[in-house]
Amino acid sequence: YEDVELFALYPILNKDKVEYVIVASFCKEEIYDTNINDILIRLSGNLSYIFDKIEYKQRLKRLQDELRIAASAFNAHEAIAVTDNYGNIIKINKAFTEITGYSEDEVIGKNPNILKSGRHTKEFYTQMWDKLRKEGYWRGEILNKRKNGEIYPELLSITAVKDENGKIMNYVAHFFDISTIKEAQQKAEYRALHDPLTELLNRQGLFEELEIIYNYSSAHKEYNAFLFFDMDNFKYINDYYGHEMGDKLLQITANKLKESLDSKDVVARIAGDEFGIIITGLGSDKKSATAKASIFAENILNKFKEPIIIDDVYIDLSFSIGIKIFPDNDKSPQDIITNADIAMYQAKKEGKNRFHFFNSELDKESKRYLEAKNKLSIALSKNKEEIKLYYQPKISVVTGKIEGFEALVRWQQSDGTVLTPDQFLFATIGNTLGMNLNRLIIEMVCKQIVNWQKSYPKFDKRVSINISGEHFSNKMFENELIEIVKSNSAKPQMIDLEIVEDALLKDIDNAIASMNRLKELGFTFSIDDFGTGYSSLNYLHKLPVDNLKIDKSFVMNINKGKNASIVKMVIETAKLFGMKTVAEGVEDINILNYLKNYGCDYYQGYLYSKPLPANEAEKLISVEFSIKK
Ligand code: C2E
Ligand code: CA
Ligand code: CA
Repeated sequence: YEDVELFALYPILNKDKVEYVIVASFCKEEIYDTNINDILIRLSGNLSYIFDKIEYKQRLKRLQDELRIAASAFNAHEAIAVTDNYGNIIKINKAFTEITGYSEDEVIGKNPNILKSGRHTKEFYTQMWDKLRKEGYWRGEILNKRKNGEIYPELLSITAVKDENGKIMNYVAHFFDISTIKEAQQKAEYRALHDPLTELLNRQGLFEELEIIYNYSSAHKEYNAFLFFDMDNFKYINDYYGHEMGDKLLQITANKLKESLDSKDVVARIAGDEFGIIITGLGSDKKSATAKASIFAENILNKFKEPIIIDDVYIDLSFSIGIKIFPDNDKSPQDIITNADIAMYQAKKEGKNRFHFFNSELDKESKRYLEAKNKLSIALSKNKEEIKLYYQPKISVVTGKIEGFEALVRWQQSDGTVLTPDQFLFATIGNTLGMNLNRLIIEMVCKQIVNWQKSYPKFDKRVSINISGEHFSNKMFENELIEIVKSNSAKPQMIDLEIVEDALLKDIDNAIASMNRLKELGFTFSIDDFGTGYSSLNYLHKLPVDNLKIDKSFVMNINKGKNASIVKMVIETAKLFGMKTVAEGVEDINILNYLKNYGCDYYQGYLYSKPLPANEAEKLISVEFSIKK
């Protein structure tokens, strides 16, 4: 280049890298002016741009070729969607339309989130995108929504397609509709735990449920019962009428058992003609759990008293039932089943068509309960005169005068024995006898008050009635009470209602509303056995209560432990809230002196008088009121 005076070099770039160089040579330096320089700069720039374009087209073509090959290679059931790097769909295949219901026209240019089912959390999608950006791949099960709104599960893989510089260009998603697989899976799981004939849980299913309840109840002190049922004469029926009849009988049995259950209880077919039932939530008292399980078993036995009719054939069916209350000493759920099974054999030995508790003490308890329940039921329907009320005076600590009476129930049986409440009130657990008894007692008190007012027109002592928590919580209680009082022409101003604190706290807002309405009519309220329940001072000021009855366990032992300070505190708290205090169980003068010092208002106890039959209580009344008569 001897005659060249000047070279000018212009780079042609491909992605910021010099791919070619334009070399311009000038024989005279002055030819190379700014004009020429401009033209050459633009030329090199344009050439760089063209390179970029060619590159992109080639790449796109390559991608589309790859996709075509890939798409044809894929299973025809696998849907494919390709998006650009913004996530907008640029291509789908036929299976995509078949699965989602969207045609190509409807989705091109759109974001795949049109398929969102709304069943996943925000975090789910954030994690998915994080993984895609970082690792370029995501695979998992996802619930999506078809065009027709149907939600379906799919197995989805998404791959990020990157260029040679690692920049994401596309996302390729493939997915299968796995709803049929899922259904099959669920069916298999269902079959593994259920009996095909009766659709009840099978032995395995029962075991799993029992395990859950066993673990739960071991942690919380709440009793449950497992009942092992064995049909008494199934083999005979099967042999005599044939298996088809036997199957029908098992199905009918299954339905009858199902009908007797609460939604949270469990019934299973253990094997052949053996069934199992778990009843839960029997409370934290073992005796009352036993009573409730007894009632349940008795009801089921009664349910099968009528013969079952299949194809005009009358079949007598009965069961032997073994009952295990748990948690007890059972080491495992299997223990519970085994023990109930043992108890079931006992029921068979005793003559079938009956139930037996595994624990012999509970079995005795159950028999005692059922016997008392039946007797009380008869007393309440036919021999109401056996129910008596005793009256214990409530005395003013300051004046020593009678302030009122508490009505206490007694059951005078036909042979003359008089039962106190702790000897028969257990018979009202888990049934409606308690409410019937309470209604009767309210009525008897009303009649007695009216009676005394007739004999002693100035008689003005309130009579306290013990209202069971169960009755007070009942929706009917308020109206029933008003109705009974009215129809006996008694005055609410003569009646005080004693309720234990736990009953008031169960549904405190309703309790307060109901108490306020009743107070408006003239009734007063006492909290019975105060100190033995929740005893939270937090709620006390909310309750429209007139009296606190300090439980006799504190009063009788006032000179032991912390009892004196408890009694003192209760009296002071009551004063703060404008309530009166009544000490129960005052048997000697020393205790009365304590109460005097602490400022207690009233007391009840053997010191003044035991509960007395109405005619003897009347003598106390006559002392005060006859003079004035
Ligand atoms: P409560 O309401 O706490 O009744 C007080 C109990 O203490 C009564 O027992 C009474 O006889 C007893 N008592 C009274 N003074 C003394 C004393 O100085 N020393 C001792 N050791 N005891 C005393 P009772 O009559 O056997 O009643 C027991 C529980 O039965 C009552 O406890 C109450 O919760 C329930 N109850 C009684 N009558 C009825 C009723 O008509 N309806 C309802 N729902 N429950 C009742
Ligand atoms: Ca009471
Ligand atoms: Ca009491």
